[in-house]
Amino acid sequence: MEPLRVTVWNEYLHELEHEVVGNLYPDGIHGALANAVQEHHPTAEVTTATLRQPDHGLSQALLERSDVLVWWGHKAHAEVSDAWAEAVQREVLAGMGLVVLHSGHFCKPFKRVMGTHCSLKWREADEKERLWNLQPAHPIMDGIPEMFELAQEEMYGERFDVPEPDELLMLSWFQGGEVFRSLCTWHRGHGRGVYFRPGHETYPSYHHPYVRRIVANACGWARRRVRIDAAKAPMTAALEPVPNEGKEHV
Ligand code: ZN
Repeated sequence: MEPLRVTVWNEYLHELEHEVVGNLYPDGIHGALANAVQEHHPTAEVTTATLRQPDHGLSQALLERSDVLVWWGHKAHAEVSDAWAEAVQREVLAGMGLVVLHSGHFCKPFKRVMGTHCSLKWREADEKERLWNLQPAHPIMDGIPEMFELAQEEMYGERFDVPEPDELLMLSWFQGGEVFRSLCTWHRGHGRGVYFRPGHETYPSYHHPYVRRIVANACGWARRRVRIDAAKAPMTAALEPVPNEGKEHV
């Protein structure tokens, strides 16, 4: 198999605007995520792109050669152009994997790919998150124990307004009592989508070894297998004789 080609997209605003976030992620959240992917896929080609670069750091050529696009965004979802959100959706339908993290639940590409509001409940109260592994045999759960904890995270609570996941891999419990479907997969067209919950910018979640491993495993699972543009519905010639080949369509 060809080396895995991953593009990590990050809004990259909190790190520059808030000292606590900049100190946690001196190379940006995209830097930490790219490093996690590279750590677990040493031969992978990992590229990063950020919001304020021209065209948000994206190009059609970059999308076409990306096996997976990882997405972190929070406060500036509206700044992502509809045209690029549509281009990402098209590429997912053609076979690219999309791994959406944390507050990326509200990003334009994810909402387009899901077709629902993708809303949820939230609370920022430095509370404990306990993540339960529901599918230990799944490739994304490789190396992940039955349960692990993040000492402090933002709470996300149900109902998460997404279509029924094809697979539910992890369930989170929060100190305040809520639960959340925190690791879900979907198939869309020829592509695969993953949502993984942890990663609020003021906590060191993307330095946690299990969180990093899950992000990397998700890239391996969601990686592109094909690139097929299925946008058109072509009329096709019969393989066997049929009564009226070429009949005028009315
Ligand atoms: Zn957050």
